[in-house]
Amino acid sequence: MLPATAASATVETHDPIETQRLAAALGRVARSGDRVCLFGPLGAGKTQFAKGFAAGLGVTDVVNSPSFTLMAEYEGRLRLFHLDLYRISGVGEALGGGLLDERQAEGVTITEWADRLGDSLDRDRLEVRFTVLDEDRRRLELLAAPAYEPYIEALVRWRAGDASAEG
Ligand code: ADP
Ligand code: MG
Repeated sequence: MLPATAASATVETHDPIETQRLAAALGRVARSGDRVCLFGPLGAGKTQFAKGFAAGLGVTDVVNSPSFTLMAEYEGRLRLFHLDLYRISGVGEALGGGLLDERQAEGVTITEWADRLGDSLDRDRLEVRFTVLDEDRRRLELLAAPAYEPYIEALVRWRAGDASAEG
């Protein structure tokens, strides 16, 4: 976990499209080498978030859960690596399976079930923590290492714009 002193912001979404729209706003500020780590239970909305983030990054291919391949790659403004570690048995498998690829330094990596990486988790990262509030409501908490604060600013801007759009 990032330290409690990390910059943070929270937002609540009310349907999967809203989660995608928020994530797209974050994808638009992504920079090369960024790592975005998603935490939360099955069905929390991590893949919905990844779809929106990819769209914000200019990916036009359909993003699905890479559960069976562990890692999928997409072309966008930057190359996107989408990892889903749900099925890995441990850190060794993640490292041995080539999931930490040196090319990620020039792209953006978004990882579902990032907690599976344990101590191998990048220290420098954006964390998105999902909580299921009810069937359609999700709370997303962002925690940003210092270099990742533009994501917090983007979330705050998105939240403000969203509120005014709804009057
Ligand atoms: P995960 O990848 O975390 O296992 P998914 O993104 O695959 O979860 O699935 C989330 C499920 O929850 C989808 O069926 C989606 O339609 C539903 N859902 C309902 N409300 C939301 C919301 N606010 N944000 C994201 N998904 C939502
Ligand atoms: Mg998923």
